[in-house]
Amino acid sequence: MGEKDRVKKVVFFSDLTKLHDALDNFNIQSFANTKVPVKLHMGELKNKYFPKPDFVKQVVDELKNVNAEPYLFDTTVAYTGLRHTKNGYLKLAKIHGFNHKKVGCDVVIDDSGAPKTIEGKDYEVADHIVKAVNIFTISHVKTHVATGMGGAIKNFGMGGVTKETKRKMHRGSRPIYQKDACTYCGVCAEVCPFSAIKVNNNSWKQNMRACFGCGVCVDVCKNNALEFVDADIQYVLACATKACVQDKNVIYFNDLNRISRSCDCDPEAGPIICPDIGYLLSDDPVAIDKASLDLIYDIKPNIFEKVNKVNPYKQIKYSEKIGLGSSAYKLINY
Ligand code: SF4
Ligand code: SF4
Repeated sequence: MGEKDRVKKVVFFSDLTKLHDALDNFNIQSFANTKVPVKLHMGELKNKYFPKPDFVKQVVDELKNVNAEPYLFDTTVAYTGLRHTKNGYLKLAKIHGFNHKKVGCDVVIDDSGAPKTIEGKDYEVADHIVKAVNIFTISHVKTHVATGMGGAIKNFGMGGVTKETKRKMHRGSRPIYQKDACTYCGVCAEVCPFSAIKVNNNSWKQNMRACFGCGVCVDVCKNNALEFVDADIQYVLACATKACVQDKNVIYFNDLNRISRSCDCDPEAGPIICPDIGYLLSDDPVAIDKASLDLIYDIKPNIFEKVNKVNPYKQIKYSEKIGLGSSAYKLINY
């Protein structure tokens, strides 16, 4: 039986006091006496929805209880802003309350990496992830303009690789322009973080070399004049995740609360588009993201695709196809 055919365990609970017992379903004791990166997106400046330090501290405490040595970890990003550099991101982490006093462990930001080959392509994985045997990851589940969903897979696929790999992945998803729908309002040019669009009177130009494929312009164009090629950023995301986690012991913790219209990289990520649901734990990134989507769609059918016109189940399908994990799961309620 292959990995994709296995029914994986996904544990659901809505009350954080159950975290300790829920973790007993996974072999957290094997994390003892090892340095454990807790992979976490600590939120873009002004974003309100990222997981908060009090909540993260509970995970850190659980890891310390089994004599593991946790530290919060994330990588720098390719676009401009505080998270672009190690020092800038560390400053932002402090602004958001991620410091030793509040979370009980160090915060490490890095942008060095080493190549791993998956399905014939190289992905530079962050050194801290390459070196780790055991990893814990906290993923805030929300929509994403390019990938349809941000959860456990995206936390590694985009967040666990170097800037150069992030750039390559985004460039594959530069938007397509539909001239007939364009009113030359110029909003896309105003929001483009890379000044890749110029709009003058009846002229719209895009500098393809400057475009990073971030999708911000697609998000703001009210006339549907810009759309994603759907260029399989979800496929490369699945491959990059596999590059990060294969042969590692990883516990995935998905936070299905404050489910926002856009991702934690977006300063204006609101509004909330689904009521709070609770928390999921698993040792399989595909099973936990599939369970997350299923729970959200039970309450708000198709909501992620309605918001971004990107089918989030594609990243599940691709991930399963390349052997990252299994979409078959059994939900255990606590
Ligand atoms: S936001 Fe849309 S309609 Fe406005 S200029 Fe850009 S592409 Fe054209
Ligand atoms: S996707 Fe749009 S907003 Fe993002 S860099 Fe390219 S042109 Fe600019």
